Amino acid sequence: MTPHPESWLCVRPEGLFCRPGAFYVDPLRPVERAVVTHAHSDHARPGHGAVLASPETLALMRARMGEDRAGESQQALGWGAAITIGEVRVWLQPAGHVLGSAQVAMEWRGSRAVVSGDYKRRPDPTCAAFVPIPCDVFVTEATFGLPVFCHPSDAHEIDRLLASLSLFPERTHVIGCYSIGKCQRLIALLRRAGWNAPIFLHGALAAPCREYERLGVPLGDLRPATVADGESLKGAVVLAPPSAITERWARRLADPVVSLASGWMRVRQRAKSRGVELPLVISDHADWQELNDTIDEVGAPEVWVTHGNEEALIHAVGQRGIVGRALRLVGYGEEQDDVATTDR
Ligand SMILES: [Zn+2]
Ligand SMILES: [Zn+2]
Repeated sequence: MTPHPESWLCVRPEGLFCRPGAFYVDPLRPVERAVVTHAHSDHARPGHGAVLASPETLALMRARMGEDRAGESQQALGWGAAITIGEVRVWLQPAGHVLGSAQVAMEWRGSRAVVSGDYKRRPDPTCAAFVPIPCDVFVTEATFGLPVFCHPSDAHEIDRLLASLSLFPERTHVIGCYSIGKCQRLIALLRRAGWNAPIFLHGALAAPCREYERLGVPLGDLRPATVADGESLKGAVVLAPPSAITERWARRLADPVVSLASGWMRVRQRAKSRGVELPLVISDHADWQELNDTIDEVGAPEVWVTHGNEEALIHAVGQRGIVGRALRLVGYGEEQDDVATTDR
């Protein structure tokens, strides 16, 4: 008989722990051995001993936090290549969230668990697409785990942005987007839609963009957004961290159209309270339907929810005979500069 996942995977104060492998997945505190799903600050924290992750995640971690804080020793694991840690077979498959983002698959004595990390199902020109892995327990996020969250297509949102750009050719469009993933995806989507003009970057976004390009994601003509140069930014697209779009920095741009790209922009009140004139519903997380479809696709009889709106999701899967469990891991969903941080 295969062991129940609860007999070998448990929640400790440090995070989700795999006992027969003696490692944590996305630990919230410094630990000896960590497997990290992706480079966002709520999942990839500094100060671990050994860190296992995809090569891109390790590179983005080093770029974000510095070589010395990204783990004493680092091991890169390519997609689908299995290794054994302790008694556990471990491999990674893409999660489609940001460049390098992985799901962690673990197998022990015939029992298989998959930790999704953050994920989305929409095609993203800047990262590999999510690969469903059949498993006995699927550990999922539920950031947008409410039926109200139904993300429109990226193309639809980019069209709205382009329409605004042609409607207000004298104004500067300043778009808030977090620095790893959303920023580069927006650039790639704009390029794909034919926007070949230079795109201007707030200083905080320059290094991650350089790292994406080094890792093989072309982003076109990028330039620093120098506010002193307000005139030359008329009619331009300026990208900035969400925290910067309403600061004095942004207000000094030429009559700015303040925009924000986030799944939360589906909630009108959020956009309003942040002074966002052009909310763009572009999310790096699965929406309600995608969460449910993914759970059905992996076919796990049991689903554990790390963070987000877990109650509605657990209720919905329960109606389909799937056992749901809330892990309530506190500390996820607070990506640096993500809009969710301030109003959760
Ligand atoms: Zn993330
Ligand atoms: Zn997260």
